[in-house]
Amino acid sequence: MANKSKFQAIRGTRDLLPPETALWNHVEETAHAVFDTFGFSEIRPPIFEPTELLARAVGGETDIVSKEMYTFEDRAGGLPDPGEMSPDGFLNEIRRAMNSGQLANDAAVIAQLEFQLENYNLRSDSERARLIWMYFVRGLRLGDSISLRPEATASVCRAYIEHNMQQLPQPVKLYYMGPMFRRERPQKGRYRQFYQIGAEVLGGGDAPAIDAEVIEMVMTFFDRVGLSGIELDINSIGHNAPDCRPAYVEKLKAALEKAKDKLGADSQRRIETNPLRVLDSKLEHEQPIIATLPRIADHLCAECAAHYASVKRQLELRGVFFKENWRLVRGLDYYMRTTFEVTAKGLGSQNAVCGGGRYDGLVELLGGLPTKGIGFAIGEDRLILSLQESGKGAAPHGRDVYIAWMGERAYATAVRAAKDLRNAGFSVELPPTESKFGKALERADKLGSRYALILGDNEVSEGSWTLKTLADGTQRKFTEPELLEFLTSVKVSGERL
Ligand code: AMP
Repeated sequence: MANKSKFQAIRGTRDLLPPETALWNHVEETAHAVFDTFGFSEIRPPIFEPTELLARAVGGETDIVSKEMYTFEDRAGGLPDPGEMSPDGFLNEIRRAMNSGQLANDAAVIAQLEFQLENYNLRSDSERARLIWMYFVRGLRLGDSISLRPEATASVCRAYIEHNMQQLPQPVKLYYMGPMFRRERPQKGRYRQFYQIGAEVLGGGDAPAIDAEVIEMVMTFFDRVGLSGIELDINSIGHNAPDCRPAYVEKLKAALEKAKDKLGADSQRRIETNPLRVLDSKLEHEQPIIATLPRIADHLCAECAAHYASVKRQLELRGVFFKENWRLVRGLDYYMRTTFEVTAKGLGSQNAVCGGGRYDGLVELLGGLPTKGIGFAIGEDRLILSLQESGKGAAPHGRDVYIAWMGERAYATAVRAAKDLRNAGFSVELPPTESKFGKALERADKLGSRYALILGDNEVSEGSWTLKTLADGTQRKFTEPELLEFLTSVKVSGERL
């Protein structure tokens, strides 16, 4: 225990540290720049949302909502403490808090409290009655249920409705980046706090060009950050009308029933609950069976088939390479037509770096007007991992100039020089205390500095400053203006200082 730090980051979370954070910043800056060129603007929704919103948007039956959300009750502060008053006193306080608006008016809560008091004789003074009362009251839901967001599409759609964005010129094109939270089993590329960069196009139409442009934007971004060897898979999952996806799902179910004995337990269960998800299975022994199943592309209605064909043509027009993957599906009703996924190398089983698709029913499901929608989310953690695996990790952040100073007069000059150099955009290390030049140069080297500016009282009085190139030990003398000019010329000439 002795040497072990007492506190550690919570399982599934981690500190992003330098120099890696430089790579994160580079990725995020590239996203801002690329998305801007496609006419997208940034939205920053809150990290927590009403549980109800997320349950509805992500789907109450999904693993994300049923098992993986960080949900808690947001009790208002200043509520009465049941341990400090009689049960009747507490009940009165709750009534008062509801009347004053401090608590949401909830007749069911009052009814439950009255029921407990009447039926279990909890007004008695006995210790047992007190314990039962406390147990019951503590478990009472007196606040709103809120959850850390497991994704951000729900938030963006809520914001679109809340801020009447349907009155803006359509479509509204928004992007976001930030942490998401899912209580998943941590492994490489899978965390409980992870980061997504995503975008949504809301409103307007569902022209195939919109789908194609969103995909083009994702691929442009990956190209710009230098992620190579990735694969784009696309598919169409039709829409939720009798002559389209539901008819296909019936055929799929029938085929799965026939092969049921050869499937694993999970897939057997999914035949009833969510047959499309069987197509996601990675189990080796199920692959030959899955290969024989009916494919949705052969069962799309005429409009969905035409839409899909057009999306593919539009992608070709944009020079975006893709692979059709009929097994790429989404389990929720409001997902429709285009789905896509990007996978990267070097990530093992968690190799999806981006998932996206069309969700025309979602805004309406959340209480808005019928609104078309399509979007994607990039897994930033995995993107960074993949960049690092391919040798594109960030270099440690060195300094341009380390100011080695000695003497009081030299210090005043050093402070001014640091200010001027920093204003000119150079990264400068100004040691807070004096040290011998030998020591200072050692430290400059350790920090990865390119140059050391040597300022002793002699240099200051002569007005001639010594600049040492640490890589080869060469030295040159400059006047103050010459120095700035020299450093700027090195930077301008394209060399990274
Ligand atoms: P989803 O919102 O589930 O469609 O996920 C979109 C992308 O987010 C995935 O392709 C992953 O790259 C990333 N992602 C999802 N869950 C996690 C997680 N627990 N840890 C790291 N990345 C994740």
